[in-house]
Amino acid sequence: MNQTYPVCIIGAGLAGAECAFQLARHGIKTALVEMRPQKKSPAHSTSGMAELVCSNSLRSSDVTNAVGLLKQEMAALNSLIIRAAHKAKVPAGTALAVDRTLFSDLVTNTLSTNPCVTVISGVVTGITQGAQGLEVSLASGQVIRCERCVIATGPLTDEGLAGWICENTGHEYLYFYDAIAPVVEKESIDFNKAFYASRYERGENENGDYINCPMTQAEYEAFVSEIKKAELAEVKDFDRALFFDGCLPIEEMIARGDHTLLFGPMKPVGISSGERLRGDRNMGQVCSPDRPHAVVQLRQDNLHDTLYNMVGFQTRMKWPEQKRIFRMIPGLEQASFARLGAMHRNTYICSPAVLKEGLELKNVAGIFFAGQITGCEGYVESAAAGLMVGLFLSRLIKQGGLLPAPPATTALGALINHILCADKNSYQPMNINYGLFKEIELKAKKFDRKVHLLKRAVNDFWEWYYREF
Ligand SMILES: Cc1cc2nc3c(=O)[nH]c(=O)nc-3n(C[C@H](O)[C@H](O)[C@H](O)COP(=O)(O)OP(=O)(O)OC[C@H]3O[C@@H](n4cnc5c(N)ncnc54)[C@H](O)[C@@H]3O)c2cc1C
Repeated sequence: MNQTYPVCIIGAGLAGAECAFQLARHGIKTALVEMRPQKKSPAHSTSGMAELVCSNSLRSSDVTNAVGLLKQEMAALNSLIIRAAHKAKVPAGTALAVDRTLFSDLVTNTLSTNPCVTVISGVVTGITQGAQGLEVSLASGQVIRCERCVIATGPLTDEGLAGWICENTGHEYLYFYDAIAPVVEKESIDFNKAFYASRYERGENENGDYINCPMTQAEYEAFVSEIKKAELAEVKDFDRALFFDGCLPIEEMIARGDHTLLFGPMKPVGISSGERLRGDRNMGQVCSPDRPHAVVQLRQDNLHDTLYNMVGFQTRMKWPEQKRIFRMIPGLEQASFARLGAMHRNTYICSPAVLKEGLELKNVAGIFFAGQITGCEGYVESAAAGLMVGLFLSRLIKQGGLLPAPPATTALGALINHILCADKNSYQPMNINYGLFKEIELKAKKFDRKVHLLKRAVNDFWEWYYREF
C-alpha cells in the first residue's frame, strides 16, 4: 500500500539524521531516504548514517568559541548528533572528537530502530507536486508520497537531484571545493622522533592528546619545496573553486607564501619538544632547544587509538606524491596511510535568495532545506540546521504555525539568520562564529566583548526556550 508520509527527508547525513530524530521525538512519521550503499558519494566510504567524511572533530567545546556554544544549545534541545558524539568521544584536548565508526553506528541504530522513522534506500532524482501532496521519485522508479519534504543531501548532492534543485531554485549553482586530510596508522609512526603533547598543555591526557612531528628549518624548507613541485590531481571546474579558508589545501596555503604553514597547521607555538630536541637531532640555528621550527600534529581518529589524522593537511596532491612527500616528515618515514588526502565538490544554494522562514523554498511550497547545502559550513552547523528544520516542522505539523527561530543573539539564531539574511550577492558557506551574532553596543576589548556576547546569548537562548517549550 502506498502511504503518505507527513515528512520525507532526503539524505541521512548529519542534518537529515538530526532532523528525523527531532521529528520522531514529536511523534511525527518520516521516510528517511539515503542513496548509500546503492550509490556512494565521492567522499563517503560507508553505508552508515551521519558519516564524518574527513576530520573526526566536532571542534571546540569551549564556549568562548561560538561552535562550543552552538553545541551547548543543541544539547539543550536534545540533539542526537551531540549525544552520540559524547558517547563516542576520544581524547582531543578542548575539542570534541569522536570515534567515527562508533558515532555513525550510534546514530544509525537510534534511527533505524525508531518506530517513527522508515529508512528507505534509494537515489532521489526529483520531486513533483502530485494530486495528494509531493511525490519524491527514486532512480529505481519507486515514488514516495509525502506532505512535506526536507532536502538534506549535503555538499555532494547527487547529480540528478542537483539538476532538479537548480531548475527549481531558478539560480545558478555555486561551487567550491573542500579537501580531506590523510589518516596514518599509529603503529607506523616512529616515536623516537614523534612525541605526544597538547598545545599549551591543554589536553585531557597527561602526556598530551596529539602526536607531534617536529621539524628543523632545513627539513621544513625541503618539505615545502617538494610540495611546490608536486603533481596535483585534476579537479573538474577547479577554476570555479571558491575556497573556504578553514579548509584550504596545503599547496594553496604554500602558494600564498613559503611561511604560511608556520602560521597555520605547522605553527610551532605552545609545544615544547623538550628532551627530544636536545638529544641527537640537530634542530638548526633558528629554533630554540625547546621550540621546533615547525610541527606536524596528528589527532586520534578512532577509539581503538590506532589511526591518526594529519591536522590541517588537506590536499589535492596526487596520491603517490602524498606518500613520497609526507614520508619526509620526521617520524612518518615509514608511515602507512589508512586514507590519503583528496578534493571534492561542495555544492550549496544561495539560501538568502531562494529560502524563506523555516528554511522553506520560496517558490515550491512544502520543500525545506537543511544542512550544508543551505550554506552553513561544518559538521556541527549542518546538524544544527537539521535540528532547527526538525523543530520548525514539528511545530508546523502539530500546531499549524512555524516555531519562531531563536533570536540572532544566540548561536542557533545567528546561524539561521546567516542562512536567510546574509548578502545574497556574496553568499558563501560559513562556520558559526561570534561575528555572525547580532551586534552588541559596547566599547570593550575583544575578549570582554566576547564574554558579553556569550552572557547575552545564554540569557536569550533560555528566554526563548522557556517561551516556546
Ligand atoms: C570532502 C569533504 C570534507 C569535509 N570535511 C569536513 C571536516 O573535516 N569538518 C567539518 O566540520 N566539515 C567538513 N565538511 C563539511 C560538512 O560539514 C560535511 O560535509 C557534513 O557532512 C555536511 O552535513 P550534511 O548533513 O549537510 O551532508 P552529508 O553529511 O553529506 O549528508 C548528505 C547525505 O545525503 C545523501 N545523498 C546525496 N544525494 C542524495 C540523493 N540524490 N538521494 C539520496 N541520498 C542522497 C548522501 O549520501 C549523504 O549521506 C566536509 C565536506 C566535504 C565534502
